[in-house]
Amino acid sequence: MPHPRTRSPLRWRPALLGIMVALLTGCGSTAQQTPPSVSPSTVSTLDPSGPSPSAQPPTEQTPSNPSSSATPPIAPSTTATASVDAALTGGQLAQRLSTEVSEPGAFVHVQALQEIADQNGGNRASPSGGYDASVDYVVTVLRAAGYQVSTPTYPASGDEDHDGGATVRNVLAQTDTGNPASVVMIGAHLDSVKEGPGIVDNGSGVAVLLEIASRLGANPSTQNAVRFAFFGSEEEGAAGSTAYVEGLAADGRNKIKLYLNVDMVASPNAGYLVQGGKGGDLSQAGPPGSETVAQVLADELAKTGVTAQTIKFVGR
Ligand SMILES: [Zn+2]
Repeated sequence: MPHPRTRSPLRWRPALLGIMVALLTGCGSTAQQTPPSVSPSTVSTLDPSGPSPSAQPPTEQTPSNPSSSATPPIAPSTTATASVDAALTGGQLAQRLSTEVSEPGAFVHVQALQEIADQNGGNRASPSGGYDASVDYVVTVLRAAGYQVSTPTYPASGDEDHDGGATVRNVLAQTDTGNPASVVMIGAHLDSVKEGPGIVDNGSGVAVLLEIASRLGANPSTQNAVRFAFFGSEEEGAAGSTAYVEGLAADGRNKIKLYLNVDMVASPNAGYLVQGGKGGDLSQAGPPGSETVAQVLADELAKTGVTAQTIKFVGR
């Protein structure tokens, strides 16, 4: 399917700004708050009226489940680049970034992912050459922004006995600054389905993360460390994020104070859905604190002029 090269017809700035501010609200350097325990929330802009005319349609009808998408240990970054945010409070940093993150900045990345799919049989499913190229692209962008990046692997099929040793990479990066024992984390799945390039689902989420990471830089003045995750095999049973979570020791999990999962956040006629805190049990509502995180997301989206609907977790 043709895709635009010059201007994004997708509408994702509300989600972009809402996610970014919500993330940084959680890592403010002055207004220290007691963070909730691991509290997944998801923001999605599911398109209720069908495929986008200018990008591949979402192929999954439910947002991915962030409760299965926490992460692997990240090697602490040690290479510091100059911090330009040393004197900024968390709120000031959020304000600065709210003026800097942009649709064109994010759209560059979905264009790159489309080109990768074009060069790899039309998809970026994991495992495949298209997925590997997507991983390489994300790593390159993050390194250019100053991050040290790790690519922990997991068995390609989730079963080492049947893989013949084949592995797939997740991508992880974390700020050099902020308390590494208190991590706010944002993630998106990097793989597509086999049937298409996965531009809305979930190149859009990947692009949002890359734009935020690039504007934030590896050395922001933040109270908490900020971790970015790009998971493989979400379309194959969330194998990448599951492997990441299972690879974390209890201490590593406890360091993650919140997790935001970003899935399908670009559409010309979007519905804004936030998951977290709704429902009667853990599988529906998420861990304690999820309601608070979801409310922050919904409030920030409201400031951009859209009304988000908060719903129960769906998916696995
Ligand atoms: Zn998805």
